[in-house]
Amino acid sequence: MVPISLFFFKKKVLSKKCLEHIYFLLTYYRMFECRLCENETCITTNVCTKCRRIKHLLNLYGDRVYEVLEAVLVRSEDKQELKIQNEIKNEKDKIDKKINQKKN
Ligand SMILES: [Zn+2]
Repeated sequence: MVPISLFFFKKKVLSKKCLEHIYFLLTYYRMFECRLCENETCITTNVCTKCRRIKHLLNLYGDRVYEVLEAVLVRSEDKQELKIQNEIKNEKDKIDKKINQKKN
């Protein structure tokens, strides 16, 4: 939108005042954008509800969230499902191993 408004400004369709208003509105609008996804609008907080959930998971699991995102999501969708099932199986095996160690 900014390059288009600049084009109209150079063609003398838009006045300098109009251009300033456009820049102000764009800046004002961006103020209410979610800081993480830059897609949702949020007024009282910096992040939207969906991104707040991600922030909460980051607080709980730390760098593990980045590892899982890289390991699971950076692949095609059918491979993602396979990877998710493998990750679940691996986590289940680890938990079963711990339970068996405590029993013995
Ligand atoms: Zn968001």
